[in-house]
Amino acid sequence: MIKAVRGMQDLQPNKKARFRRIEDQARKILGQYGYEEVGLPILETTGLFQRLVGGATDIVEKEMYTFLDRNEESLTLRPEGTAGLVRFVNEHGLAFNQTQKYWYCGPMFRYERPQKGRYRQFDQIGVECIGLAGPDIDAEVLLLSARLWESLGIADKVALELNTLGNVESRRAFSSGLVEYLTPFAAELDADSQRRLTTNPMRILDSKAPKTQEILANAPVLADYLDDESRQHFDGLCAILDAVGIAYQVNPRIVRGLDYYNRTVFEWVTTTLGSQGTVCGGGRYDGLVEQLGGKPTPCVGFALGLDRLALMFEDEATPSKVIDVYGVSVGEPAKIQLIRLAETLRSELGLAIEVHHGAGKLKSQMKRADSSGAQIALLLGEDELNEHSLSVRELRGEGGQVRVPQAEIVEYLRARFS
Ligand code: ATP
Ligand code: MG
Repeated sequence: MIKAVRGMQDLQPNKKARFRRIEDQARKILGQYGYEEVGLPILETTGLFQRLVGGATDIVEKEMYTFLDRNEESLTLRPEGTAGLVRFVNEHGLAFNQTQKYWYCGPMFRYERPQKGRYRQFDQIGVECIGLAGPDIDAEVLLLSARLWESLGIADKVALELNTLGNVESRRAFSSGLVEYLTPFAAELDADSQRRLTTNPMRILDSKAPKTQEILANAPVLADYLDDESRQHFDGLCAILDAVGIAYQVNPRIVRGLDYYNRTVFEWVTTTLGSQGTVCGGGRYDGLVEQLGGKPTPCVGFALGLDRLALMFEDEATPSKVIDVYGVSVGEPAKIQLIRLAETLRSELGLAIEVHHGAGKLKSQMKRADSSGAQIALLLGEDELNEHSLSVRELRGEGGQVRVPQAEIVEYLRARFS
């Protein structure tokens, strides 16, 4: 038997319906804030991620699905969406001197150790705003995400953690300070952190190793290295969030796993998913457009993980199909007439009608009608066919059955479902 690739999950209808629900809510809410949906390729050239995500990040170091195509070009299945979006705005001249608000939804690929809430193919919704520098737009992306949690009924299960990374210089100064502090403890750090001491020191703050965390307790904090403008930006953001009533916790440990962030960074976290608790993360990436050859352009965005979010309401029934009417028939002529009537009802009333196909005695067809969840069954047997009528059977509540002339069935059902 051939099985799915490790870490790539099949989405059964009920699971897919939960993903769909998140996407539908997001589409509605993003529209309310003036964001436009874009569709971007799943494959990009490998260099794009090496350059924008950063060579010393986990993603580029060990998580990318990279291969040579038939033309010997190195391509990578996108591990995240921001790099592709920045490529997109640069390529189409959409970044310079203008504001764009975009979002996208689709699969990302990372070669990680699969576990609950962590897969090798997973879906993200990404939201990116190009061309605005102020804290007001940072606040907006947080507001709209808060509205999304509200609409999904999980607002009380997620909390916002916020930090500022300052500008490039303050990050650099902090990074040196961190290395200086940690170097004497190098031998006691976990293996990943030892390596990061030379490649990507700020990521050490992310380490989950208890000993490393213990050492970090007295490490310098980024706040001490912050430039004035970044400090003002952060204060401005906090003031807006306070004014609109978005609760947050300032967490100086949040650095995010990608190289491109500056100033505002944030995560929406939940305690309901174990160690895969980050459902959404983002921040500013003011240097990225320029890094790809464009003009300096301030940007802010975030990505949320559908797989993790969907786990948060796993116990809730999210129907994968809703059938109003189930049609059963006896004999081929009746079947054909039923198919025609069902078409008319779909057109005229917009009802969801499942016609019984394949073999089956009337009794077993009626069992199917019942388990389909339909409100009523339409029966078309020999008698009904001869007198141009239909039997309408109520499947729920009191039950009951009536004969309705075929010519009146649209009006009958219009009244029934109004
Ligand atoms: P983590 O710290 O959990 O590895 P991350 O910082 O790598 O997350 P981002 O790159 O910021 O995650 O991606 C944004 C969101 O995408 C995450 O908050 C998470 O919900 C989701 N996500 C990231 N990686 C995976 C994965 N392997 N499987 C499922 N969802 C994921
Ligand atoms: Mg990760």
